[in-house]
Amino acid sequence: MTVPMVDLKKQFNDIKEEVFEIITEILESSQYILGPRVRELENKIADYHGVKEAVGVASGTDALHLAVEALGIGDGDEVITSPFTFFATAEAVLYTGATPVFVDIEPDTMNLDPSRIEEAITEKTKAILPVHIFGHPADMDRIAAIAKKHDLKIVEDCAQSFGAALRGRRTGSFGDAGCFSFYPSKNLGGFGDGGMVLLNDPGVADDVRMLRNHGSRGAYRHESVGFNSRLDEIQAGILLVKMKRIDEYNEKRRRKAALYRELLCGSVECPMERPDNLHVYHQYTIRSGRRDEIQKRLRDNDISSVVYYPTPLHLQEAVGFLGYKKGDFPVAEETSERVLSLPMYPELEEASIRRIADIVNNAV
Ligand SMILES: *Cc1c(COP(=O)(O)O)cnc(C)c1O
Repeated sequence: MTVPMVDLKKQFNDIKEEVFEIITEILESSQYILGPRVRELENKIADYHGVKEAVGVASGTDALHLAVEALGIGDGDEVITSPFTFFATAEAVLYTGATPVFVDIEPDTMNLDPSRIEEAITEKTKAILPVHIFGHPADMDRIAAIAKKHDLKIVEDCAQSFGAALRGRRTGSFGDAGCFSFYPSKNLGGFGDGGMVLLNDPGVADDVRMLRNHGSRGAYRHESVGFNSRLDEIQAGILLVKMKRIDEYNEKRRRKAALYRELLCGSVECPMERPDNLHVYHQYTIRSGRRDEIQKRLRDNDISSVVYYPTPLHLQEAVGFLGYKKGDFPVAEETSERVLSLPMYPELEEASIRRIADIVNNAV
């Protein structure tokens, strides 16, 4: 029995007919870019989150980039973010000319640590960019209070947290912008690249729309140098089919997580879920001092596992010019040495979880 990290084929087989039907309709409509399906998806996702505006873009990275830019952040500005995330979070800030300023993470949730944000704020700070890592919401109550006190914007990186919530309020609806990725392996994933920005300010939303379409608000008038970052109809159609099932998919992930926890929490550190938080387990990430041995045993048994993330962003070669060094963010650094993400997807079988747990427990 081999177990992959995600099994996109199983999910596709369950929704195949509906997907073929909607793709055929789109192909026959001959409207392929920014048409009625994109608008329908934008409206559905805005409603689901209780926000006013949604703008479909070409990727999660672009969602972050265009959101930061539309909020007027750029050259000379600073954006506070987590060093324990996918590289795109910092890349998107750098694209605008602004500088990512890292702040260490909380040991329990692995999210940006609110108690360390204020000491990183300078005159140049314009925004806080929390990442809801692995599907657990960042502490938005405390982050919002700090942002309010210092008059900063909030841009949420929700690439891993579609459907996650804090007291019933969904991630992506707390900040000035909520940025989502529809990369195939995300909780709501298309069959290619895609992304979306959620906003409550119609003016900023309009600016994101302008930026995604060559800096144009219509008819070959270009008010700024923008980008080609549009969501296509086929991706939107596929995402509409999956959107109907997103709560079911997330609920299934939560059930798998509960079983992992029951079987594993005696021998390794299992992901935590704070009271009032709904974790959507984009990843099921355990921590152990015997991480490498666990991974080796899993590999020997044809079971996939991945270290997300082996190198925190402040130690990445590409951002060496920012001048960080080892030791700057001890929690993120230690976390990188101990984490291991196990197979997690809605269709993951209980027998696979039991087998994985046996191997992990034996390795420890
Ligand atoms: C996937 C991901 C992104 C980037 O999304 P793409 O759609 O691949 O561009 C950004 N941030 C985080 C935390 C991610 O996991």
